[in-house]
Amino acid sequence: MISKLPNATTSIFAIMSKMAADHNALNLSQGFPNFKSDPLLIDLVAQAMKEGHNQYAPMPGDIGLREEISQKTKKLHSKSYHPDTEITVTAGATQAIFTAIAAIINKGDEVIIFTPAYDCYDPSIELFGGITIPIQLKAPNYTVDWDEVTDKITYKTKLIIINTPHNPSGMIFSNNDMLQLQSIAEKNNLLVLSDEVYEHIIFDGNTHFSAARFPELASRTFITASFGKTFHNTGWKLGYCLAPEPLMNEFKKVHQFNVFSVNNPIQKALAKYLKTPEHYFSLSAFYQQKRDFFLDLIKDSKFKFIPSQGTYFQMLDFSDITSESDITFSERLTKENKIASIPTSVFNARNEDFKQIRVCFAKTEETLEKAAEILNSI
Ligand code: PMP
Ligand code: GLN
Repeated sequence: MISKLPNATTSIFAIMSKMAADHNALNLSQGFPNFKSDPLLIDLVAQAMKEGHNQYAPMPGDIGLREEISQKTKKLHSKSYHPDTEITVTAGATQAIFTAIAAIINKGDEVIIFTPAYDCYDPSIELFGGITIPIQLKAPNYTVDWDEVTDKITYKTKLIIINTPHNPSGMIFSNNDMLQLQSIAEKNNLLVLSDEVYEHIIFDGNTHFSAARFPELASRTFITASFGKTFHNTGWKLGYCLAPEPLMNEFKKVHQFNVFSVNNPIQKALAKYLKTPEHYFSLSAFYQQKRDFFLDLIKDSKFKFIPSQGTYFQMLDFSDITSESDITFSERLTKENKIASIPTSVFNARNEDFKQIRVCFAKTEETLEKAAEILNSI
């Protein structure tokens, strides 16, 4: 049989988490919190199950949840998405991204992505016959050169995928970045997929410039979001997609035959939980405290870093420690020093190695202290 994804390998997150378990290492690799989520949210899920919300949810999602998502987006970005026609609840952001790509990419379409890029974009594009056009962002700042983007656009370009706040670099797109994107997309009649799963984790008083804030951009954009990332429950795999009605119609055509509808009791619970905006407004301060706590502990280590601007990831430059590749180094760290991280070259277009590993600081202070102790000893 000819593989449809001949180049696909096991994801680096699965590899590093397994290596961490096999070697009893502290796991700062795959991005998930090691603390419990809000007991209130767990109670709301239990309550929804006990009340009997255990059969299929409506295809685009629970209407109460879609209404809350609509109001949240309106409150944060002054943009209305109609709950009936412009919002679909998905099985995590991964499914939303896959579905958007499946709905619009045809054989030969070119899709611009920025590397280092989250791992699911490229295989999803390839599966539908699209061609990924990577634009490499350079360490340590990972900023976008919009002239380079313009240069890479051809008559085949269909879609640009962005991710802000950005995994793995922790970089965020500025207002100006979004305006540039808007102007390029409009001029070349392109669609945009804006992966905003870390929308509520943004530091130092900065603003999350969602694609929803820019009317011309929003009119051609799928925005994807993740409740797993937002509310510390990555295992629940609940997310959503926002898009203007004509795009959402195409999205739903794929969604209904792929998953049809997603976990009903969790949707009921989230609809209630979202009624308290503090539940998401508090997240930036919560994670900024963790970032600062951790970075202060490792400030005298041999690792160099620029504090992350968003997400719960921090890049660490190890070029003063060794000339080993980031893959070799992170393997050695896991097996010998008992701390697992993510080598970031795997997210780069030609596996460029900027000597940067990614660590996840969505951890308890106790875990961050243990991690710092190890990193300081290297
Ligand atoms: N995009 C990015 C940038 C991510 O880091 C992740 C991982 N949470 C996802 C998408 C997928 O999110 P989910 O776990 O909700 O599928
Ligand atoms: N988004 C998570 C990360 O970046 C991993 C999710 C996964 O394992 N697919 O670490």
